[in-house]
Amino acid sequence: MSEPNDKKPFAPSSLRPATQMVHGGVTRSQWGETSEALFMTQGYIYESAQQQEARFSGDEPGYVYSRYANPTVSMFEERMALLEGAEAARGTASGMAAVTTAMLSCVKAGDHVVAASALFGSCLYIVNELLPRFGVECTLVDGTDLAQWKAAMRPNTRACFLESPTNPTLSVIDIAAVADIAHDAGAKLVVDNVFATALWQSPLALGADVVIYSATKHIDGQGRCLGGVVLASQQFIEEEMKDIHRHTGPSLSPFNAWIMLKGLETFPLRVKHQTQSAAFLADRLAEHKAIDRVLYPGRSDHPQADLVARQMRAGSTMIALEIAGGKEAAFRLENALNVIKISNNLGDAKSLITHPSTTTHQRLDDDQLAAAGIKQGTLRLSVGLEDVEDLWDDFEQALATL
Ligand SMILES: *Cc1c(COP(=O)(O)O)cnc(C)c1O
Repeated sequence: MSEPNDKKPFAPSSLRPATQMVHGGVTRSQWGETSEALFMTQGYIYESAQQQEARFSGDEPGYVYSRYANPTVSMFEERMALLEGAEAARGTASGMAAVTTAMLSCVKAGDHVVAASALFGSCLYIVNELLPRFGVECTLVDGTDLAQWKAAMRPNTRACFLESPTNPTLSVIDIAAVADIAHDAGAKLVVDNVFATALWQSPLALGADVVIYSATKHIDGQGRCLGGVVLASQQFIEEEMKDIHRHTGPSLSPFNAWIMLKGLETFPLRVKHQTQSAAFLADRLAEHKAIDRVLYPGRSDHPQADLVARQMRAGSTMIALEIAGGKEAAFRLENALNVIKISNNLGDAKSLITHPSTTTHQRLDDDQLAAAGIKQGTLRLSVGLEDVEDLWDDFEQALATL
């Protein structure tokens, strides 16, 4: 016989983030497994027809179908909500499913959206091409210019959308100020927080209403699965977003949710290490004569260093570089790197470099590229978990070929 259990109830919300990322959100099965269980199931069996009826009517809490919810996905959502300090979270199949589901939950035909022009290519497509097809007009602004946000607001503006730091040039937008402008107009602020990560920036605490992540990036962190998550108030997730999420099918697979849950256990360690390495490389690269400019939010020469200090707890795992010689020189540098791999992904254990104007931002025309601050000699580096001296050695030999 086991002793009676007189342990205090376990309350992850009172613990510090690194502890929450190991223990938060766990629901153990009757087997008491150490590691989170992977509930690879589409559906659920009921004790009786009456119970099934009660589950569907909502009179009895519980799972009904994995497009709506799944125990492994729920564990991931709870752990993410703890990390973000959000009331609620909903996992999605990708970062873009998170963006689309969140934006569709804010607007209907006749409404208006204001978005920063420096957006991830696919996000720009959602706000600037997809939403207008359904009667939602979009105004793009220079996100760093608060006067443009103010001027763009209309009586029917229902959502503002931005990412900060931006992809790929790492400029920083004043989230608290844009949240005020949005709220004065009766609109919600949706923030794509992928580049900052939850470790270094908390948009909800700054006044944003909705935060989205591509979990594909730092949350997996090891280049395996696509995933995403929307974080917001209970009202937004469980009411305003509920039917769109349930009935349009952006659901996160239990397998991918399990990978993301395991990724979150090491997330604080990885992001801290990658950020330290990025800060070190940014300083070394800035001194190299072949580099025109380094854009890194942790450096004092960042164009918005004061704002970075106010709204972020540290820089980023990402660095943007500008080199002379345009695309040809950028390609030569990429091709000369050995340890650092050419890839458009980011937040991975492996350091990855990409040339935005020919890859992630290929859809943009010259004016849009200029508005996003992307030059032909711009490269975006995602710093991984390798020994930083090996990364620097790799850069030094590659830069010598320019
Ligand atoms: C990758 C990315 C997305 C899209 O995420 P997916 O998981 O690829 O769908 C959205 N925003 C930013 C800033 C990203 O880097």
